[in-house]
Amino acid sequence: MKRQFWFLVGSQCLYGDDVLITVDARAKEMVEYLNKSGKLPYELIYKGTAKSNGEISAVIREANYDKECTGIITWCHTFSPSKMWINGLASLQKPYCHLATQYNREIPNEKIDMDFMNLNQAAHGDREHGFIAARLRIPRKVIAGHWQDENLAKRLGDWMRSAVGVAVSRELKVMRFGDNMREVAVTEGDKVEVQAKLGWQVNTWAVGDLVKEMNNVTDSEIDALMREYKESYDIATDNIEAIRYQAREEIAMEKMMKGEGCTAFTNTFQDLYGMEQLPGLASQHLMSKGYGYGGEGDWKVSAMTAIMKAMGENENGSSGFMEDYTYHLSEDNMCSLGAHMLEVCPSLAEAKPRIETHHLGIGMNEKDPARLVFEGKAGKAIVVSLVDMGGRLRLICQDIECIKPIMEMPNLPVARVMWKPAPDLLTGIECWITAGGAHHTVLSYDVTAEQMRDFANMTQIEFVHITKDTTVEGLEDKLAVADLLWKLK
Ligand code: MN
Repeated sequence: MKRQFWFLVGSQCLYGDDVLITVDARAKEMVEYLNKSGKLPYELIYKGTAKSNGEISAVIREANYDKECTGIITWCHTFSPSKMWINGLASLQKPYCHLATQYNREIPNEKIDMDFMNLNQAAHGDREHGFIAARLRIPRKVIAGHWQDENLAKRLGDWMRSAVGVAVSRELKVMRFGDNMREVAVTEGDKVEVQAKLGWQVNTWAVGDLVKEMNNVTDSEIDALMREYKESYDIATDNIEAIRYQAREEIAMEKMMKGEGCTAFTNTFQDLYGMEQLPGLASQHLMSKGYGYGGEGDWKVSAMTAIMKAMGENENGSSGFMEDYTYHLSEDNMCSLGAHMLEVCPSLAEAKPRIETHHLGIGMNEKDPARLVFEGKAGKAIVVSLVDMGGRLRLICQDIECIKPIMEMPNLPVARVMWKPAPDLLTGIECWITAGGAHHTVLSYDVTAEQMRDFANMTQIEFVHITKDTTVEGLEDKLAVADLLWKLK
């Protein structure tokens, strides 16, 4: 869908028409410049210079109801007394960014006089504006810098993507085929709380209904999807029937999701009633199209995958469902190997994935499931886990450095990604476990930790970031304080 962001400039009537005309013209110029910079992923729309409580309340009401408006960005060229903003901001339901910028880059030595000062007073106008959001405890992002700086536009663009994540989250529907894997704790959670906080509608459909839908898939539908598979992947198996079966599963799952408006799904190997294969290639190809997925009924990671994909490049970034599988604890080169029994998203792949078929012992697979096998890309990334702490949600994010796998692993029949977590493997493990992070994560190469922090701030959930500077002691203290803070909220 089309998304846009609204730029709202604060001022007041005290300055007279000439100043307001100048402010208006400059705001238009800045918006035009930013839109042409190529750094903003979404259009910025100038919504005027607000001078009164009534004007501000009206435009915020409009922003709340406008489908396309995904967030508001404010700035005060002049001074805008903030009591005028209270009624509007108190009702704001969209993500909010305060751009602390200034029209002129430099102080013009000879030309500066009191007229110049009265027109160019963002330095204190933005402080008055910032106070009221702090006073009202309104979540917002403050970005400071000159509007022509590339870095400012980039940061604004990144924030826009986080706001898109919130918009996607608020309308997200997750289709669960069956329940969670039996006895697992971390994939559980309070669906009512999650819907209230994040908007997710998480519901279950019977695997039997999926099997019925699979039986209705036609050969020509499968032929069409097979052509797509052939274009996207190398077929490295003679077992074409297994691939066609995965195509049948994919088509049926997508039909059911489209029918219900779902953009994320889960299943579990423990409930394949009437299915010959656990969906492998089927789930992987659906993820490549932007669908969220979580194994073993993990609906939280499925939803987060859909959201982080939508936050990424072109609203389908390089993000995917991941699982910490096994460690390499060699003293001079420690790393973690991530994979899943089948379902790793090909958006993480270094090169063209191969379709292979192998026996899968776990679950009730009657036939060998087809799956995509590949190595992940090298580069900076994050892994993210959302856990239910009872009474609140905690979003845990760890900085990682993905590396080219240090060995071939020719007998490993699944896609794999190898990485070194921050601050180092052992401390990283200790921190992750201390924070209660799950074995399932979303791994992303293009969504940043700052964007996830912004997402958590916008949705008012706890955020824990494990970085190169994190220590176990420091983290324990932070978590203890957070526990107290969240009880007080
Ligand atoms: Mn798993």
